[in-house]
Amino acid sequence: MELLKDTLEKIEEGLNPEGLTNILELKLLNYLGVAPSIDSCTHCGSEKQIITLSSDKGGYICKNCYQNEPLVSDKTIKMIRMYYYVDIKNISKLEVSKEVTREINQFLDDYYDRYTGLYMKSKEFIKRINQLQND
Ligand SMILES: [Zn+2]
Repeated sequence: MELLKDTLEKIEEGLNPEGLTNILELKLLNYLGVAPSIDSCTHCGSEKQIITLSSDKGGYICKNCYQNEPLVSDKTIKMIRMYYYVDIKNISKLEVSKEVTREINQFLDDYYDRYTGLYMKSKEFIKRINQLQND
């Protein structure tokens, strides 16, 4: 698979493997036909005042539709959209804070659980490669 190949190449180049894995996961959701709503509010479609991400609701939540979903940082809201649209081949630098990585990971793990029932073999695979490289 082209996406996986591109991802592994970038990991070999030394780019943030966790960030790359998240990018791969987001793009795979699109292939699976269950892409999250990260252009506008998943409930009302508004592009304004997006305040959090909810795996339960399926993506962005705006201020008006917010109920009591857990809040994520602004950076996470922006970064996840960038991840979704970026062309892996064109990434030359990937600097993401631990906080953002944690929030995106949490969203994706939960989202996969809810909407795909898939166990991410590629995620385990990439984790293992990364461990080998760090040994
Ligand atoms: Zn809304």
